[in-house]
Amino acid sequence: MAYLYFLSKIMKHYLLSFFVIALVACQEKSQPKAEKEQALSASNFETYKADFVEDLWKLDPIRASYEGYHLYDYALPMPNQEQKEAYLAFADEYLKRLEDFELEALAETNQIDYHLIRNYLKSQNFYWNEFERETWDPAAYNLGGAFFQVLNYREKELEKRLDDLAKKLEKVPAYYAQAKQNLNRPTKVHTGLAIQQMKGSKSIFQENLIDSLEASSHNTVFKEAFAQKVNQAIAAIDDYVVFLEDLRSNLDSNTAKSFRIGPEQFEKKFSYEIQSAYTSQEIFQAAVEAKSDLHDKMYALSEELWPKYFGEAEKPGSRLAQIKMVIDQVSLKHVSRDSFITAIRQQIPQLEAFVRENDLLTLDPEKPLVVRETPEYMRGFAGASISAPGPYDQDAETYYNVTPLDAYTAEEAESYLREYNHYTLQVLNIHEAIPGHYTQLVYSNQSPSLIKSILGNGAMIEGWAVYAERMMLEAGYGDGMEMGLMYYKWNLRTVCNTILDYGVHVNNFTKADAMQLLMKEAFQEKSEAEGKWRRARLSQVQLCSYFTGFYEIMQLREEVKALQGEAFDLKSFHEKFLSYGSAPVKYIRQLMLTELKEKQAEHQKPLSSSAS
Ligand code: ZN
Ligand code: ZN
Repeated sequence: MAYLYFLSKIMKHYLLSFFVIALVACQEKSQPKAEKEQALSASNFETYKADFVEDLWKLDPIRASYEGYHLYDYALPMPNQEQKEAYLAFADEYLKRLEDFELEALAETNQIDYHLIRNYLKSQNFYWNEFERETWDPAAYNLGGAFFQVLNYREKELEKRLDDLAKKLEKVPAYYAQAKQNLNRPTKVHTGLAIQQMKGSKSIFQENLIDSLEASSHNTVFKEAFAQKVNQAIAAIDDYVVFLEDLRSNLDSNTAKSFRIGPEQFEKKFSYEIQSAYTSQEIFQAAVEAKSDLHDKMYALSEELWPKYFGEAEKPGSRLAQIKMVIDQVSLKHVSRDSFITAIRQQIPQLEAFVRENDLLTLDPEKPLVVRETPEYMRGFAGASISAPGPYDQDAETYYNVTPLDAYTAEEAESYLREYNHYTLQVLNIHEAIPGHYTQLVYSNQSPSLIKSILGNGAMIEGWAVYAERMMLEAGYGDGMEMGLMYYKWNLRTVCNTILDYGVHVNNFTKADAMQLLMKEAFQEKSEAEGKWRRARLSQVQLCSYFTGFYEIMQLREEVKALQGEAFDLKSFHEKFLSYGSAPVKYIRQLMLTELKEKQAEHQKPLSSSAS
């Protein structure tokens, strides 16, 4: 079936291109100028994008290393006034050059790249002149990862990497001297995080760098000089930690900056990072409504499930308490700690089969997902994640990393397994793998775009994975009401992430407000809720991405349904949606709706005119 589908898709593609060529040939005489202009514009835009990326990597060599671009591994820019001016000048120059292009004249995929680049450039003014993280977040100066990314790039020979690292190391003392100067009013919670992280990332210098030095064939002179640079870097880090500890002990409500960024900055950051068609306040409102709707649905299920788990026992009299009691019972069904990975491995083909049988999406049969134990160096906490090759390494495998529960005590493992019980584990696999993140990735790789992999939209990526859960359940996936109840609990987490994020930064939520929301209204364990409270104070806006993307995809689907009526086809909707890559949903919406309306207008034309 899949093979036939692919064949027909390829055929259609050829027919279509043939048709276009014929059309162009016909029109050559009538519109030669416009055609040429468009071609010129397209090739210029490719040059523009290439220049943009190249200059971005020069400005931000650390980000380049993370993305797999290793030409500037030796560099460590100083976080000073000059750097700020360089970013602002870069933004100015590239915004000006962007004016040369007419958006409408660009191909669809370039139109999205245009929007992404423009958004990035416009955001620079906000970050450097208003948000000013460099003045209040000491954790912005953690260099552990920057060194690790260079050291771990095994495509380059070790000696060359060490040459790069030697140059980078030299700058570390000046880097931290500048950092100390920049920080004038840090927040307490970020200062605490920085102290904790800096102590951890010291081991990259003390252990990883020194170990690899021993393995290299550099001569003794180099090795001694290198070791000395490492020691100087470590001394600078130690000094920075002492500085931060000092700072922290003197921070009180007058000297510390609040971790709340407030309504104005929150809305701006939301608009640059989420790129939604809605304001953050509208999304917050939608989340509050979604929460109440989920509670209604969960209560109805708990009513139905009550006799099965509690027989004739009396109900607690409160809706939320009753839901919680049923959830606790349902959560007892889970795999054993030793079969956690096996269970996930077995579920992937079942999810694939369900997607095929229900005609939800075409899955590329040539790219099966590899489930593996998370490599040691990536473990820090238990969990599951997709690790995809970066934009400069497209051919590498995509893995579904699952961390075994080896490091857990019996009690911790039991708690973790109840959280990822028989039902929730399936929703997790839908989210991370099929048809969630992994499937979205396969589709976005079909039209590779460097810009979209660097500046891709997190709300669309997370939104798709959250949408995939809902869509699978709608299609009838899962066994019974328990699956529904546990799915709603899972979805509630996404909804409450948004409420918490906006609540903390805009509505002045206290810790008690947060605990009430997460433990009482979202049925989370204390440890999970406390972790989330910390994350909501350390980050801003990111926790909104899951629900916002989900909400906008659901809205778009309804719009397309309304437009197409009987002709609406879920599978075509999904494939069309994913074909645009990791773009903000609002731009996908524009392009999709425009195309649909054009198609409908064509159909309504009288036959005679289309036959001419
Ligand atoms: Zn158990
Ligand atoms: Zn996700």
